[in-house]
Amino acid sequence: MARTFFVGGNWKMNGSLESTKQLTQTLTQAKLDSNVEVVVAPPALHLLTVKEQLAGSKVAVSAQNAYHKASGAFTGEVSVNMLKDASIPWVILGHSERRTLFGESDANVAEKTAAALAEGLSVILCIGETLEQREANETVNVVVRQLNAAADQVKDWSKIVVAYEPVWAIGTGKVATSEQAQEVHAAIRKWAADKLGKDTAEKLRIIYGGSVAAKNCKELAQQPDIDGFLVGGASLKPEFVDIVNANN
Ligand code: PEP
Repeated sequence: MARTFFVGGNWKMNGSLESTKQLTQTLTQAKLDSNVEVVVAPPALHLLTVKEQLAGSKVAVSAQNAYHKASGAFTGEVSVNMLKDASIPWVILGHSERRTLFGESDANVAEKTAAALAEGLSVILCIGETLEQREANETVNVVVRQLNAAADQVKDWSKIVVAYEPVWAIGTGKVATSEQAQEVHAAIRKWAADKLGKDTAEKLRIIYGGSVAAKNCKELAQQPDIDGFLVGGASLKPEFVDIVNANN
């Protein structure tokens, strides 16, 4: 079955109101493949401005994180309910920087995912192994453990895009080869078929993230189980348009 190709841009903690305006202008003026779903994730402070700048375009916005409680004494957090209230349709959860730098566990990520889905948001759920885990042949065990934690709390996967992001490839310029990425994507789809059923597995979009650039995206995009990309560094540059158009 045909899965709609998905390209997300994770702007991380970058940009100013001025540079963000230039980025959104590039996106609204570019010719983007009409068959691709495109989402960009600016920092929380810029979300509503970027959403307004992209209004009427095919590019949607995503938060980079959210808290699962609706409101209360959680200084510094933004809740999934607040995202819903502000009509932000997507949220990235479980990014490796959240897991490593901010101590988010598989259970935290699963709890946030369930809360976001309950509010009607769509989720880009990030998983992936460290270099040490890959070298110990633990890659599939690690991603399956991360996915099982989410599956413990989530039954309906129709609004989840799984982002396989090997930690060693994020921001390092060391992209996974298309064979390495395809192998893990196929293992994730097999997990989905076994755990969630064949139909869900066939519909589930599994995207790759980790040093994706204009020069490597075409080969990756040709792999049968790679349904798009989550792009960090290159999403801040005009080459993001080439990545969106990887299938052309
Ligand atoms: C990311 O942060 O999700 C990412 C994939 O970053 P980069 O493309 O810079 O490796």
